Amino acid sequence: MEESKIKDKHYNGYETIIIGGGPAGLTAGIYLSRARVSALLLEKGLPGGQANLTEMIENYPGFPDGIIGPELMQQFVSQASRFGLKIENNDVLEILSTDQHGKSLFQVKTELTQYSAESIIIASGAQASKLGIPGEKEYTGRGVSYCGTCDGAFFREKDIIVVGGGDTAIEESLFLTKFARKVYIVHRRDKLRATKILQERAFANDKIEIIWDSIVLEIKGNNKVEKVLLKNVKKNQERDFSCQGVFIFTGYTPSYPSLGSFHGKLVNDKGYITTDEDMKTKVDGIYACGDVRAKKLRQVVTACGEGAIAAFSVEKYLEYLKN
Ligand code: NAP
Repeated sequence: MEESKIKDKHYNGYETIIIGGGPAGLTAGIYLSRARVSALLLEKGLPGGQANLTEMIENYPGFPDGIIGPELMQQFVSQASRFGLKIENNDVLEILSTDQHGKSLFQVKTELTQYSAESIIIASGAQASKLGIPGEKEYTGRGVSYCGTCDGAFFREKDIIVVGGGDTAIEESLFLTKFARKVYIVHRRDKLRATKILQERAFANDKIEIIWDSIVLEIKGNNKVEKVLLKNVKKNQERDFSCQGVFIFTGYTPSYPSLGSFHGKLVNDKGYITTDEDMKTKVDGIYACGDVRAKKLRQVVTACGEGAIAAFSVEKYLEYLKN
């Protein structure tokens, strides 16, 4: 691709397109902008991703008192913008490959337009998993929620059920105690998965009670949530449990646009995108980083590290294309 075309703001070709504006994508954007690679970051919502839904981030180094999720993400955006990263609010629908004048390029189809790029960084993250039980869809927004920071304030002095036993469920339960009369954590086992420090805080909090070995079978109500049907999986007993809110934090499902013919090469049997340690996928020119990647630890700090590595790898790939 001619350098003059890349620099032309009316031309919709880029050296790289970053899909997703969470910590991974924004970090990749910071590194690429500083390396003067022509990069476009496409984000369908508010830049910041899942971190925007986190009230307080306590384990991102450099902030001994913690930092509010959206505040940290705003700093990422400011930093990326300072180095000239182009960020566009646009939903990516599909990634395709084309051959233009003997050169293979990627086409990124969005709701509004179509872009071409020599390389792609998929940093599109993950979204909250659904339980798939009766009443869940019907009462979403009417008592069922996947975000304490967004909806907690609607549940002042109410009884809330939190489903899940991981870091998110416990952190969110602690946050929800600011509003709720009582938070009941429904967990399917007799041990929490969450990190020990969060467990200690939950056990010490009078407003939190844990309902062990139990699952939610159904969410019931009358226009708004009124109760859930709980099942104790050890005793095989079912009972109705009165509550006004149901917050579901049972992990995340990777999210990405249609990958067309690349799908089989990029995605593993759990739906995550696999890469090597350089964030390179099995398709030349496509890289992935952050929560969308198959890996063990999903944190802001790991997403940032991967974003930096992906950017570095893209730079090397673009150099290789030029030679
Ligand atoms: P997670 O670690 O995958 O935990 C999901 C929880 O939901 C588990 O307790 C799991 O039970 C339960 N669960 C899964 N499917 C269920 C179902 N169908 N019905 C009932 N319960 C179900 O997810 P997460 O807590 O969202 O965390 C995701 C990642 O982000 C993790 O790597 C976590 O460490 C990280 N994270 C870190 C922080 C932090 O460092 N402060 C904060 C939030 C998230 P089992 O335990 O029985 O499997």
